[in-house]
Amino acid sequence: MFSEPVTRRRALLAAAAGIAAAPFVASPAHAAVPLIYLDPGHGGSDPGAVGNGLREKDITLDIGLRTRSILTSSWNVAVRMSRTTDVYRSLSYRSSDANAWGAHLFVSIHVNAGGGTGFESYIYPGASSRTHRLQDDVHAAVLANMRTISSITDRGQKTANFHVLRETAMSAVLTENLFIDRTYDANLLSRSDFRQATARGHARGIARFLGLI
Ligand SMILES: [Zn+2]
Repeated sequence: MFSEPVTRRRALLAAAAGIAAAPFVASPAHAAVPLIYLDPGHGGSDPGAVGNGLREKDITLDIGLRTRSILTSSWNVAVRMSRTTDVYRSLSYRSSDANAWGAHLFVSIHVNAGGGTGFESYIYPGASSRTHRLQDDVHAAVLANMRTISSITDRGQKTANFHVLRETAMSAVLTENLFIDRTYDANLLSRSDFRQATARGHARGIARFLGLI
């Protein structure tokens, strides 16, 4: 659950202050709201992968904004994004911003390239069981929602030493949403109903992870 780290921190603070088993600690009202960080890959001078007339940075931003919209209109959650427009953000900006905000979970949105097809997701090697659960929930929900539109290859749940997975202090998952250089995949990515379904998958996976559905 998203509240576990906060509870642990409170317990440590209470112990440090010499307070034995303090049941309640005053906290801001927003502390109970899940803090969700969405990270649309690339942007600005960095287009990411390109192919079939599409740019990765545009697809990731569109899916990210749609995901935020679904999340905030459906549940009592707070969403922060590494970017909401076509601007460049360094990798260290993305991880530092999420850490400074105190996000409970981090989801980075990308589009693949290199000749394959389908959907895959990544977490950091040796990640916690909580992070594995985040990947399980997001992976399954994205695939299921993509498949309401068309047949999609499941490339699997993977691990990788990516900056945003390694340097974020909270559970983090990175999604690779089809291949921009594969005609079948690009045709889907160019459709707003497919991007909406992909966003719905991200939102519902996050909500499932948080116990909201
Ligand atoms: Zn990317």
